Amino acid sequence: MTEHLNHFIEGASFEASDGRRINLVNPVTEQVYGSSAQGTTEDVDRAVAAAHRQLEGGAWSQLDGAQRGQLLSKLADLVERDTELLADMDANAIGRSPIEPRRMDLPNAIANLRAAAGWANQLEGRTIPTGGYFGTKTLSYTVREPVGVVGAIVPWNSPLMITVWKLAALLAAGCTVVIKPSEETPQSALHLAVLAQEAGFPDGVINVVTGYGNEVGRALCEHPHVAKISFTGSPEAGREIQRTAGVLFKRVALELGGKSPQIVFDDASFDDALRGCALGLFANQGQVCAAGSRILVHRSIADRFGAALADAAQTVNVGDPRQPGVQMGPVAKKAQFDRVNRYIQLGIDQGASLLAGGVSTPERGWFVRPTIFTNANNTMAIAQDEIFGPVGTLITFDSEEEAIALANDSSYGLAATVWTTDLVRAHRVAAAVKAGAVGINCWSPLDANLPWGGVKTSGIGREGGFAGAVAYTEEKVITVLLPS
Ligand code: NAD
Repeated sequence: MTEHLNHFIEGASFEASDGRRINLVNPVTEQVYGSSAQGTTEDVDRAVAAAHRQLEGGAWSQLDGAQRGQLLSKLADLVERDTELLADMDANAIGRSPIEPRRMDLPNAIANLRAAAGWANQLEGRTIPTGGYFGTKTLSYTVREPVGVVGAIVPWNSPLMITVWKLAALLAAGCTVVIKPSEETPQSALHLAVLAQEAGFPDGVINVVTGYGNEVGRALCEHPHVAKISFTGSPEAGREIQRTAGVLFKRVALELGGKSPQIVFDDASFDDALRGCALGLFANQGQVCAAGSRILVHRSIADRFGAALADAAQTVNVGDPRQPGVQMGPVAKKAQFDRVNRYIQLGIDQGASLLAGGVSTPERGWFVRPTIFTNANNTMAIAQDEIFGPVGTLITFDSEEEAIALANDSSYGLAATVWTTDLVRAHRVAAAVKAGAVGINCWSPLDANLPWGGVKTSGIGREGGFAGAVAYTEEKVITVLLPS
């Protein structure tokens, strides 16, 4: 079937203003299977105008928090109804096994929408005691107002879940949105917008403009009626967005990359740590921002752990993810395939040894073999750069202090995992590691009620949890003079 996808603006489908289109390519077959509208500045103008109208006296602006919450609940039900369809859309677009989004992304997205339904009615202001105004008493209170139109810019690795992280929170806060999905994965965002229409959201509250980052994304960042950019993607694009949006004083939230350490102490449960490290390396072909791609292992167990991890890598069944028994599909796109192979070659050139995998040369499809490096050090490119593929780098340590120093010797700080049965050590290391989230004996736990985000190059701001919804509001203070 050939997919012909268009923008979704104010409840209707639109071609790009100049008719241009972007091909959608299947990563398994490398065949074009459809196309999406290649958005223009004009398309962005149209979508932002629709979103702005809803905030400035439109039906959306008249709803209270409880009513917004009801709509969010309905949307959650519809996403739940269409779980398989949405999971398949995301999986097929990037060659991922649909089992992963069915088990992880969709339940998380539904939980986010349900949690946000509650937050919508809890965005309260404060009453603040003050010293009065030139001798006259005053009453000062604050209200939380929606920040405005949000430009939500999303990557391709977990498109629906990441779109919903933004959408649920900003709708709870009363904002409207123009979503710019990744050029590889527009399907689920478009379907989500249609579901929102079915749920009863007024047309214009949720708009989707498909296209490239340097056209649609940039136009959103430069648009005077976009108040906030919520971006998830690479540090390179994040830097540019920060630069563009900063000049215009737009609010910016940046969820960027990572090179997250998994610290395996000699007292860890070997099997649990092995399973967790394999999951953190190979889930979604390693195309996960929190991928635990730096495996820091205590020297006394490093050989055994490396051999077991290599064994796990070699037994991963790589192939067409729609075939039974296949655990890992190709990486999402040609550029990613080239990038991952380039880093594997760089690892070899810089002196690391392969325990499993290596440079891949498949006949067709962007398949990469799960790859494990050993004899590596933390200064190598394979230890410092985000590869975003199924590649792990094993580095040994001798002491807890050294493990912490290695974990923190990174420009990133998104996530970290500590594997140990020593409770005190677990908390000591969790406190010392510079990261937005630390898992103790579990890799990357996600929950609708937990904040998510990074430090250093991993980003600015937090998504998720109640604070995630608050981040889409401005606190306005109102003071009234109370003469006696
Ligand atoms: P990317 O930066 O290439 O693209 C992300 C989105 O930004 C896409 O929609 C793209 O079209 C758009 N874009 C690109 N350049 C832009 C620009 N100059 N202005 C505006 N928009 C622009 O990233 P990607 O390859 O799609 O995703 C992979 C990256 O995303 C990795 O670094 C990964 O770690 C990160 N990521 C982070 C999180 C997190 O929660 N921290 C989650 C998922 C992915």
